Amino acid sequence: APAVLTTPLLRFLEETRTAFAPLDAGEVASYIPELGKADADHFGIAVATTDGHVYETGDTQIPFTIQSISKAVVFALALDLLGAEKVEATIGVEPSGEAFNSIRLRADNKPFNAMVNAGAIACCGLIADAAGDEAFELIRSTLGRFAGRALEVDDAVFQSERLTGDRNRAIAYLLRTYGGVRGDVDHVLDVYFRQCSLLVTARDLAVMGASFANHGVNPVTGETVVSNYAVARTLAVMSSSGMYDFAGEWIYRVGVPAKSGVGGGILAALPSQLGLGIFSPRLDVHGNSVRGIRTCEAISEAFDLHMLSRQ
Ligand code: GLU
Repeated sequence: APAVLTTPLLRFLEETRTAFAPLDAGEVASYIPELGKADADHFGIAVATTDGHVYETGDTQIPFTIQSISKAVVFALALDLLGAEKVEATIGVEPSGEAFNSIRLRADNKPFNAMVNAGAIACCGLIADAAGDEAFELIRSTLGRFAGRALEVDDAVFQSERLTGDRNRAIAYLLRTYGGVRGDVDHVLDVYFRQCSLLVTARDLAVMGASFANHGVNPVTGETVVSNYAVARTLAVMSSSGMYDFAGEWIYRVGVPAKSGVGGGILAALPSQLGLGIFSPRLDVHGNSVRGIRTCEAISEAFDLHMLSRQ
């Protein structure tokens, strides 16, 4: 086991939480009305190691919606379920340089990558092609296997996403004109909105991150959740596109593949080492958790986690 992962780690997490708890910059997401009801003060930090230990402090057991963090796991699932060739023919792997909900596609009409809405919706479409009515249950159970427990949908958030989801609807219809989504658009969007509305905790995100870090084997349950191929390709796209329009800054400063969501969560995964899960709902202009960014920067610096500086 890596030397960093003992009690000093937990002490460091507690100190970091105390240091950043007074930070109240940023706003809770409100473009989906139901998300605006989140308690802005919640703040949880969890680390799960690839040998199956979990260290946590603060509000690590409070459920919140996973939102865009689901996109990473669902991309990995699609790679395994449909095969890389099919997925890579439908969805690109280039950073978009645009907002997560941009309707713009690449010049060849492919979504830029699976971490933005267009790519994630195309990914749901692929899974719906393969799994039909079982698509959402397959996504739910895969996310649950990453977390090591069964996950439930927040129905109020799901309804709110659906009611206010015209932009995603427009993206899905645009994709269908180019074959990026086939079949029933309403079904594909239903899967996407439900997937975003799954409830997780900071602890879950840490264990999910550790499942990525452990090359596709959940280190707490011992279960194989996805292939090593899917893990490596997903972490690659997370590295270039996982943190909205802050992805370049993030990989430069923190150096750990990560994905954030507008619910205030961040999942980070350092291969062969650990998963990180943060929850703090106030977001910066990019849509990333303000305290989450600060916390990950501090942990990365203190334990020298930058993946490009490791020996
Ligand atoms: N459900 C959200 C949407 O599609 C996901 C947003 C996010 O976390 O980036 O608008």
